[in-house]
Amino acid sequence: MTTTKYIFVTGGVTSSLGKGIIAASLAKLLQAQGYRTTIQKLDPYINIDPGTLNPYEHGECYVTDDGAETDLDLGHYERFLNVPTSQSNNVTTGRIYQSVIDKERRGEFLGKTVQVIPHITDEIKHRVQILGQTGDYDIVITEIGGTVGDIESLPYIEAVRQLKWDLGESNAIVIHLTLIPYLSAAGELKTKPTQHSVKTLMESGVMADVLVCRTEHELPDEIRHKLAKFCNVRPEAVIQSIDASTIYDVPNLMLEQGLDKVVLKKLMLKSIAPDLTQWNQFLTRHKNPKGEVIIGLIGKYVELQDSYKSILEAFIHAGAENEVKVQIESIHSEYITEKNAGKKLKHLHGVLVAPGFGERGIEGKIAAVRYVREHNIPFLGICLGMQMAVIEYARNVLGLQDANSTEMDETTTNPVIDLMESQKDVINKGGTMRLGSWDCQLIEGSTAKNIYGTSIVKERHRHRYEFNNGFKQQLEASGMKATGLNPETGLVEIIEIPSHNWFVAVQYHPEYKSTVANPHPLFVAFVKAALNYKN
Ligand code: GLN
Repeated sequence: MTTTKYIFVTGGVTSSLGKGIIAASLAKLLQAQGYRTTIQKLDPYINIDPGTLNPYEHGECYVTDDGAETDLDLGHYERFLNVPTSQSNNVTTGRIYQSVIDKERRGEFLGKTVQVIPHITDEIKHRVQILGQTGDYDIVITEIGGTVGDIESLPYIEAVRQLKWDLGESNAIVIHLTLIPYLSAAGELKTKPTQHSVKTLMESGVMADVLVCRTEHELPDEIRHKLAKFCNVRPEAVIQSIDASTIYDVPNLMLEQGLDKVVLKKLMLKSIAPDLTQWNQFLTRHKNPKGEVIIGLIGKYVELQDSYKSILEAFIHAGAENEVKVQIESIHSEYITEKNAGKKLKHLHGVLVAPGFGERGIEGKIAAVRYVREHNIPFLGICLGMQMAVIEYARNVLGLQDANSTEMDETTTNPVIDLMESQKDVINKGGTMRLGSWDCQLIEGSTAKNIYGTSIVKERHRHRYEFNNGFKQQLEASGMKATGLNPETGLVEIIEIPSHNWFVAVQYHPEYKSTVANPHPLFVAFVKAALNYKN
C-alpha cells in the first residue's frame, strides 16, 4: 500500500523553461499546507554526477550535506523549502546504468539478458520511490530533466508511464511544462508547439494531468479552452506561468492560478489556504529596499548566469534581511591586474572572491585581494577565494615572493596552500574531493564566532587543497588569524585579518546553505559590513 503521492514534472517545446522553479514553487505551496514535500531531479545524461562538468556546460555544481555533487536545481529546492536534500534527490542516467551494470556483474540477473526495459526502467522506478519509502514525505515531486521527445529521456518517460499504472490515478500525476510563444508580427499566442509536445508525451503512453504554460503575455480564456480541448486536460488544469521579475514570486503566481488546488484534487488530498506569511515577509523586504550596496563578484565564469547561482541567491536573502538591494557587479578575474585593480574596485562596498579550479584568472584574484586588503574594503573569500587571500598575504605581507597553491605551481618553495594528505593517493577525478558537511570549531573572540553565535558549525565543502598548517604560525604572527578549525583534523576552515575593517574567508561554501527562511549569517554580516563601509 502506498501512502506517498508522486508528482512528475516533464518539459516540452524547449529547455530552460524553469521546471526546477515550477517544481520548487509547487512544493512550497504544498509544504505551506502542511504536506511533507521533497523534490527530486532525474538527469538524462551519462555522467555519474555533474561534479566533473565545468560551469560552461552545466552551471554551478551544488553540494548537499551528504556530499553529493548535484544539479543546481537542488539549490532551488533547498532555498524554497528550507529542507536539506541528499544524494537520493539527484539521479543521472550514468548512475542508473552503473548500478544495473554492477548488479549484472554480481550475478543478480544470472541467466537473463539485461535490457533497457525492464532493467533500466525498474532501476529508475526504484530510485523515484526511495524518498517516498523513507516515510519522511507525503509528496515526492520528481522533475525529469531534458525535453519530451529527446532520445535520452525515453526510459524515464516509460518509467513514469509504468509508475502511473502501478501506483494508481490518484497517487501519481504528471505536470507538463511547455512554452506558448508569442508571434509579435501576428500579435498572437501560439498553442501548436504545446499540442505537439503533449502528443509526443501521449505517444509514449503518458497523459499530462496538468499543463503549465510559460508565456510572456496573459493567456486569454479562449487559448486556455483551446489548450484544454486539444491536450485532454480540464480548463482549470491549464496553468499560466507568466514571466516573473523574481523567481521568488512564482509560488504566489502559482497560487493565484490554483496549481496547488488542481494538483491536490487530482491526488485526492485536502487543500487549505497555504501559510506563506514568512515567505511574503521576505518578499516585501526584498522588493522594498531602503538602500543599496554594490558588491564585486570576482570570478572567471562571471559571464554565465548560472555558474555562481547559490552565491547570487545568498545575496538576495542577505539583502532582504538587511533591507537593502545588493547590486552585484561581476568582474572577470582574468582582466584584473595590480595596475588596474583600483580602477575596477574602488567604488565597491564589498568584494567577494569566488570559488574555482585551475590556474586561469588566479593572479587577478590575488591582485583584487591585495587591493581590498590594503584599502579596508569588506572582503569575503570562498574556497579558492580563501586560498587566494592566504597566498596574497604570504606574498605581500610575509614577503614570500613565490607563495602559491600547489594546484597552480607544484614547484613553489612556499606552498601555503597544498594538496590535502588524504588526496595524495587519489587518482579518479569524480566524487573524490573533500565533499559535504564537516564540523568547524570557531575561535572565541573571532568575527566568525560573533556572527554565528555558536561554537561549532557545520558547513559544506568541495575542494582538494587546503591551508598548509606549516605556515600557520608565521601567518598568525603577522596578523592573519585562523579562526575556524576542523576539530578532528585541525584543517583551517576560516581565516580573518582582525586589523582589517571586515576580512573573512572560508574554505567551505556558505552559499549552499542560505535559504529564504534562513539567510546565511556570513552573507548577512558581509552585506551589513558593506553597508557600514558605504556609510
Ligand atoms: N581548486 C581549489 C581546491 O580544489 C578550490 C576549490 C573550490 O573553490 N571549490 O581546493
